[in-house]
Amino acid sequence: MTALPVSDTRGRSIRDLRISVTDRCNFRCVYCMPKEVVGPGYQFLPHAEILTFEQIVRLAKIFHGHGVQKIRLTGGEPLVRKDVEKLIAMLAAALPGVALTLTTNGSLLNAKAEALKAAGLTRITVSLDSLDDATFKAMNGAEFPVARVLEAIDAAAAAGLAPIKINAVVKRGVNDNQIVDMARYFKGSGNIVRFIEFMDVGTTNGWKMEHVVPSAEVVRAINEVFPCEPAHANYYGEVAKRWRYADGSGEFGVISSVTEAFCGSCTRARLSSDGMMYTCLFASKGYDLKSLLRGGKSDEEIRDAITSIWRSREDRYSEIRTTETARASKVEMSFIGG
Ligand code: SAM
Ligand code: SF4
Ligand code: SF4
Repeated sequence: MTALPVSDTRGRSIRDLRISVTDRCNFRCVYCMPKEVVGPGYQFLPHAEILTFEQIVRLAKIFHGHGVQKIRLTGGEPLVRKDVEKLIAMLAAALPGVALTLTTNGSLLNAKAEALKAAGLTRITVSLDSLDDATFKAMNGAEFPVARVLEAIDAAAAAGLAPIKINAVVKRGVNDNQIVDMARYFKGSGNIVRFIEFMDVGTTNGWKMEHVVPSAEVVRAINEVFPCEPAHANYYGEVAKRWRYADGSGEFGVISSVTEAFCGSCTRARLSSDGMMYTCLFASKGYDLKSLLRGGKSDEEIRDAITSIWRSREDRYSEIRTTETARASKVEMSFIGG
């Protein structure tokens, strides 16, 4: 099948594919799957609805034909999907040269780090919102201790996955007092912490603008203690803005999806675990690729379907979030993947 780069209505191509391998998670983060909403009776997707590894690889190859150069496995928590390292090995074999990354809450990483690296994982991102145990436990909703995530980060580095990116979602009044401590801990470690503005993904996390700590405030707080300067993006469309410590001890990043939207360079397509394609994190509707797979469509037919979905893409939610009324029913982050 010939490669077919495709542009949307704003001239954006598809470069990244985020694949949610499960909608399940062993955490109940307050900003993502609050336990008051995702309680014991919550209906996750039945196993029969989840794409098989073979189906995921087949779709990934078709997306690669459209120009995808980077694949991120996410969820839910991707490490709760049984044998996820097998999927990584299958993707690595099918798509040599494509960067394979994964975002995890770190809870199961200690045991899996070496297998993930051996399977062909290129890089890993570990989410960690606080170094203070009580704050972290309150945020992850699962009483999971900080120390075990820090151990997992070390295990991933020892397995050869460094430099590791650390994602910290900052919520006003909850962990904004942790910013400088987080910067201090990872400064000089070779790992890179990125502070993410709390986003209004989905409809269940009770998002309010006043909960958002603007990235400018994060940079100001760190700069007061550790002087820093902006650094150039590593590549076109890099979501995090990079800040380098003036003393040469590394860098941190800020992801400002609320106060400084980056829709103009958004080249990300998303695939949910049940095979729906989404063209925006804030989408209210997806496109059913699983039916095409199950309906016996050829690779060419699926490729053409993706082409027409992407060509008509107009998404720019973060640029118009305050005026947007059409998307009252947004899909949840744990379903679509971060
Ligand atoms: N379970 C994995 C984890 O937590 O790393 C992967 C999935 S999670 C949905 C992906 C990323 O999205 C995590 O770094 C998480 O902190 C972030 N995230 C979730 N909800 C968010 C929100 N409302 N605003 C900003 N980031 C969010
Ligand atoms: Fe789970 Fe990740 Fe969502 Fe937290 S952010 S609830 S770890 S999917
Ligand atoms: Fe991309 Fe949608 Fe986020 Fe804009 S709001 S950067 S289009 S995912």
